[in-house]
Amino acid sequence: MTDLLHDAAERGARYVAGLASRPVAPTPAMTARLAELDHPLPSDPTEPAEVLRLLDEIGSSATVATAGPRYFGLVTGGSLPAALAANWLAGAWDQNAGLLVSSPVAARLEEVATGWLRELLGLPAETEAGFVTGATMANFCGLAAARHLLLERQGWDVESDGLFGAPPLTVVVGDEVHTSVLKALSLLGLGRDRVVRVPADGQGRLRADRLPPLGPATVVCAQAGNVNTGAFDPLPEICERAREAAAWVHVDGAFGLWAAAAPARAHLTAGIAGADSWATDAHKWLNVPYDSGITFCRHPAALSAAMTLHRAAYLIQSERREPYVYTPEASRRARGIEVWAALRSLGRSGVGALVERTCRLARRFADQLEAAGLEILNEVVLNQVMVSFGTPEQTTRVIAAVQEDGTCWCGGTVWQGRTAMRISVSNWATTEADVDASVAAMLQAAAPIPAGPGRSGALSPGPARPSRPAR
Ligand SMILES: *Cc1c(COP(=O)(O)O)cnc(C)c1O
Repeated sequence: MTDLLHDAAERGARYVAGLASRPVAPTPAMTARLAELDHPLPSDPTEPAEVLRLLDEIGSSATVATAGPRYFGLVTGGSLPAALAANWLAGAWDQNAGLLVSSPVAARLEEVATGWLRELLGLPAETEAGFVTGATMANFCGLAAARHLLLERQGWDVESDGLFGAPPLTVVVGDEVHTSVLKALSLLGLGRDRVVRVPADGQGRLRADRLPPLGPATVVCAQAGNVNTGAFDPLPEICERAREAAAWVHVDGAFGLWAAAAPARAHLTAGIAGADSWATDAHKWLNVPYDSGITFCRHPAALSAAMTLHRAAYLIQSERREPYVYTPEASRRARGIEVWAALRSLGRSGVGALVERTCRLARRFADQLEAAGLEILNEVVLNQVMVSFGTPEQTTRVIAAVQEDGTCWCGGTVWQGRTAMRISVSNWATTEADVDASVAAMLQAAAPIPAGPGRSGALSPGPARPSRPAR
């Protein structure tokens, strides 16, 4: 087994070392051998070393280099060195993080990381955390806690009696709510389309002046960091209105919550401590491996009541914090270990520097693209940039050309009726040179194919001509 693990470590290290110099999306040639992995179930065993060899030789090139420095799709971070190394060691540990008795180290590191995160993100002292798969589940947990407490206050036990016949709850969302919040509402029986939608402004911020009357049976879903613009809902106004009405505020801060860690961006999260629950992703801006989301709730009893696993005699309880009482899962991997490792290695200043650096790199993208004559569609307040290359067809063609070129990877979106390319800078390893090379690739993708010799458009910083068809 030792030789095998050394082999795996070497292959993994080689993969990571090659991330910056390979095409970000795999070329057809790089995925061509995947068919070799698709065969009938082997009738007999294969040597583990051979299994690993197949996986590396065929699988490693058929990945997308989302862990590399020039992947700007979704809001995907890579893996910090300490977080990836911790992930490998934790894989060897193979801990079941649900119960304290099944992993003292996992339970303790979650507890420690929760305390550090409360401090770093400016959350109230009574806040508890559940370590879940991602922000979708973190939103689910926060809204489940809201559903529990608001119905309990009306004498209804939703976990025991369900929603049939329950007093109604009103859920208020901004018009640019993230789709995962709507999914969470649908899973909770609160209804994706039963929500009250509040108009948003041009940056996607919920308009506080258009909030409906709130009451003790209202949940307001606010957003810290719009996935397209990076904009924050007006949290101080929302939280104040909710407090007066005894309503619940849930904040989707999948990536935006981390702005609290960067002194120059923290003003964006002002008022955040006035909410009741928060969702974030560690696999986005904190740069830990998938899957890693965190749900925070300032009403720990409501969260644990909502996540209750009806007690079985064999589940040993303790007086201490039991991890499973704050998550939907019972058995699960010990993802808090990587969160602890990332925070331990970066410290407060390191998380702040990571957030600030990526925000500045987003600004660099916007400045260079604007200087080339392109239109930036959002106010670049965080790590998100949206750029238009002209008509929807032109922008769509440029996005396809950028993806095919392989220097970097960006996806598309439609923002308030306009087709745009999205750039999210979230990786700890991205440098200014990565931004410059990516801008050059984008401008080349946007420019017509050069006509004559000596006019290689490649890497020339000249203005793009969005009115001409892209290649
Ligand atoms: C990414 C994201 C989510 C969903 O996160 P997952 O980790 O994919 O579940 C929710 N809300 C916002 C604002 C996001 O950016």
